[in-house]
Amino acid sequence: MRFDILTIFPQLLDSPLQEGIIRRAVAAGKISVNIHDIRDFALDKHAMTDDRPFGGGEGMVMKPEPIAGSLRVIEKKNPGGRVIFLSPQGRTYTQKAAERLAAHEHLILLCGRYEGVDERIRAHYVDEEISIGDYILTGGELAAMVVIDSITRLLPGVLGCGDSAENDTFSRGLLKNPQYTRPREFEGYTVPEVLLSGDHSAIAEWRLITSVQQTLEKRPELLTLAVFSKEELQILKKNKLLAAVEREQRG
Ligand code: SAM
Repeated sequence: MRFDILTIFPQLLDSPLQEGIIRRAVAAGKISVNIHDIRDFALDKHAMTDDRPFGGGEGMVMKPEPIAGSLRVIEKKNPGGRVIFLSPQGRTYTQKAAERLAAHEHLILLCGRYEGVDERIRAHYVDEEISIGDYILTGGELAAMVVIDSITRLLPGVLGCGDSAENDTFSRGLLKNPQYTRPREFEGYTVPEVLLSGDHSAIAEWRLITSVQQTLEKRPELLTLAVFSKEELQILKKNKLLAAVEREQRG
């Protein structure tokens, strides 16, 4: 999968690409991340990429020509990419959106700064606007990294263990069960006995129950997306969780 990022602060993106799973995905050729400095496409000798807003008001607005210029060069070399503008006014990004975008071969991520980009870019060059949450960042670079990170881990062969993305929080309308590792006892707190029992079906049952309990407690609205097998419904019933789950699912 190819990502192109358009930014006026290319160095900001160096380090997140050089660590962990993302670095390995780049090295293995699962993804390529190409960073473009919008300043390189500025038309004047001072490499201006922003200007005052028409009609007055505070702040600066990113000029359209350098952004259009860099998009044209990308399109010419690698046609057909989906242009995404990271923006607090976009649809809120979710795991479902990550899954949808992971099916694309080429994403172009436009990072705004200042008061944002000239509206004509948004209207005529952008395919989709994505917000990573209801708060304002100083720029779109961290949001672009959030999108790249969340998509990359969904691509086949990127995660070490084949099914670890499948069981993640959100993947089936449930928060993931709690996790424990060594030592067995930490500051007097122990690990649930069942996890040490080696009884795989008891462990699977415990994972389902705790996952449902966590979801009911922290994010009950997610349960509207959850689908349970017959066996799972029986386990929920046995553990007196079924009525609460059904209540949430009815809304
Ligand atoms: N004045 C703009 C507004 O109120 O809509 C906010 C501009 S913000 C300071 C500068 C840039 O940061 C935006 O153009 C966008 O690229 C990025 N940005 C800020 N918050 C974001 C968010 N929640 N999600 C994605 N991008 C964001």
